[in-house]
Amino acid sequence: MSDLEAAIKTNSGIIAEEKIRALFPILHQEVNGKPLAYFDNAATTQKPIQVIEALKNYYGVDNSNIHRGAHTLASRATDYFEQTRELVKTFINAPSVEEVIFTKGTTESINLVASTFGRKFINAGDEIIISTLEHHSNIVPWQMLCEEKGAILKIIPIHDNGELDLEAYKNLLSDKTKMVAVVHASNALGTINPVKEMITQAHSVGAKFLLDGAQSTAHLEVDVQDLNCDFLAFSAHKVYGPTGVGVLYGKREVLEAMPPYQGGGEMIKEVSFSKTTYNDIPYKFEAGTPNIGDVIAFAEAIKFINQLGKAAIRAHENRLLAHATESCSKINGFIPIGTAKDKVSVLSFGINNIHPFDVGMMLDASGIAVRTGHHCTQPLMERFNIEGTVRASFAVYNTMEEIDRLVESLTKISKRKN
Ligand code: PLP
Repeated sequence: MSDLEAAIKTNSGIIAEEKIRALFPILHQEVNGKPLAYFDNAATTQKPIQVIEALKNYYGVDNSNIHRGAHTLASRATDYFEQTRELVKTFINAPSVEEVIFTKGTTESINLVASTFGRKFINAGDEIIISTLEHHSNIVPWQMLCEEKGAILKIIPIHDNGELDLEAYKNLLSDKTKMVAVVHASNALGTINPVKEMITQAHSVGAKFLLDGAQSTAHLEVDVQDLNCDFLAFSAHKVYGPTGVGVLYGKREVLEAMPPYQGGGEMIKEVSFSKTTYNDIPYKFEAGTPNIGDVIAFAEAIKFINQLGKAAIRAHENRLLAHATESCSKINGFIPIGTAKDKVSVLSFGINNIHPFDVGMMLDASGIAVRTGHHCTQPLMERFNIEGTVRASFAVYNTMEEIDRLVESLTKISKRKN
């Protein structure tokens, strides 16, 4: 039995935090004289030792360029690289590996779709729908496309609790809608959107649907065939993997109809000065030497999640979120921002009139790492008429004791005179 399996099996399926934490070397340090409590997981998760070892092993043993070498190291590196693609395929239940494209992150995945699908299929007067909850990565590429093509960006409003106004969404949909691009789970508030239903509605008017899975893939089952999304974008670094790797899933027929993103090596079949033919998917969209080492190490992150199981991860994180929400609600001056019924493990809030950045600095003095500010969702902050929030986001290695420390520190902070 592996360490991980043992960790789950203890306590009849409940995650044994200490065994999980033992796999994350970074967690075992003091910050400002206090044990680190890392609650900035929505920004990036920490990496288990298997991922760190895989990186070391790649550069120490297998380093080579892929897909074209005639030697042993090149074929080993190629095999490992392609094995990650297989794992990603299963992780999101894509029908085939050809529909899994490696990028450098969610941002690049969305930009790829906006610049290739967008340039070819979206024209003047066409409409693109996004929502108030979007990260800047799922706003700006569409604004740039609209500016270039004369298309129109429509925004789904939200209710005060941070849930999408689904009536308004239905009313925005029309035969002019060519693309709906919506976040699965909000990074700023945690809201989980009912995307399956939204995808069916988008398809009923003939629009394509891009799902921003940056904040859902670490917490929820994301099954692209069940959801029936046309595209899914996510980042490895938010699912316990390395930075610099992202995934774009696209339906085969859509990807095949799209022009390439960047030109260069790997994405071609044949080049001559009179005519170049492009490679098949997924390579058509992977110009140049990819981030080989990080893609290979990403495999270990997926295996880590698979061994724990999303259900166990979510159950653990839900317990943490419920405890934090309940305990913080008793603090004088605690103002939760985003109180949707269905949330991933994100707690966004203000405390009295204390600037979020100051709260972040005071928590850091106690060894507690949170994110403060607009979380790359400025239009969402504007909707709530605030500059920013304090955001504590929880991962599978966080503990109830850490939450208690957060609550204790926030209680002290709330008593400070401004
Ligand atoms: N979308 C959402 C919902 C996010 O939370 C993030 C990152 O925080 C992104 C997109 C962008 O991800 P990346 O910076 O990894 O490209």
